Amino acid sequence: MYDIIIVGAGPAGLTAALYAKRAGKSVLIIEKENIGGQITFSPCVENYPSIKKISGMELADNLFEQVSALGAVLELEEVVKIESDGDVKKVICTDVEYEAKAVILACGSKHRHLGVDREDDMIGKGVSYCAVCDGAFFKGGTTAVVGGGNTALQDAVYLADICAKVYLIHRRDGFRADLNLVEKLKALPNVEFITPAVIKELVGNEKLTAIKVTSPDGENERTIEIDGLFVAVGQMPQMDNFSSVIKLDESGYADSAEDCRTLTEGVFVAGDCRKKSVRQLATAVSDGAVAALAACEYIDR
Ligand code: NAP
Repeated sequence: MYDIIIVGAGPAGLTAALYAKRAGKSVLIIEKENIGGQITFSPCVENYPSIKKISGMELADNLFEQVSALGAVLELEEVVKIESDGDVKKVICTDVEYEAKAVILACGSKHRHLGVDREDDMIGKGVSYCAVCDGAFFKGGTTAVVGGGNTALQDAVYLADICAKVYLIHRRDGFRADLNLVEKLKALPNVEFITPAVIKELVGNEKLTAIKVTSPDGENERTIEIDGLFVAVGQMPQMDNFSSVIKLDESGYADSAEDCRTLTEGVFVAGDCRKKSVRQLATAVSDGAVAALAACEYIDR
């Protein structure tokens, strides 16, 4: 029996582990695929207090090292269900079950797909959701990034350094991304903005060769030859497995109190999977700390 099981090894989950270990609790972190979570896909983080510039991968590595040194245990498993039996929480994975006094769900989110025809078939054939992972495959080539948030704009800046030409395609003229990032991208000579525009078709079978874009009203079709398309149109929560112990809102985010408690005693949520208005690295680590301290208080009550 662990004191606390944390589901998810992104910034929120790892920060929760840091605080829980420092409070003397035994901690198991269960991660399904990617230690470090979504931030590992960020080529350059420039808005984390006290760190001027760092890659998301390095930031996640540092945090994981810090937590491992404190003795938190990590298992790579997929959690399929949580059962709450009074003071005992059962964390059921695909092949194994664990027990804890408290559980913190910090499952983050996954990449939203664009929803264009044959998108899934073209993954690995020119369609990617991660510029840091796949950008090098398109060195010297032509790529397009679709999206208007910080991820899309950061990806485009990153790709402009590797590729001969980068198109930034966004459905509106306005951007969610930070203004300084938009201005930085606009100043790059090999970047062309195509807005407002939507992608109607992926061209190519074995390999992506072009995209067809139109204005949002379906007019002004244009074919743009590209080697790679990077989709950066936001994130979606992945909390469906836990709907028996927590309440999800209409978009699938977990309802919780200010201190990250859920309706089920001893079950807490932290990070991007939580219903909240600001999803940033800084707010994810903040949630991790708050949830861990609330879980420690619950155990010690
Ligand atoms: P986001 O901010 O939600 O932006 C998603 C973008 O995709 C929006 O511009 C949206 O357009 C567009 N979009 C959504 N669905 C679409 C569709 N079906 N077709 C075409 N476009 C679509 O997502 P994000 O950029 O992944 O960022 C997620 C969070 O992480 C944000 O809070 C962001 O600030 C944060 N972040 C932080 C850093 C950092 O360095 N600290 C780095 C990356 C991300 P509309 O604007 O028209 O809705």
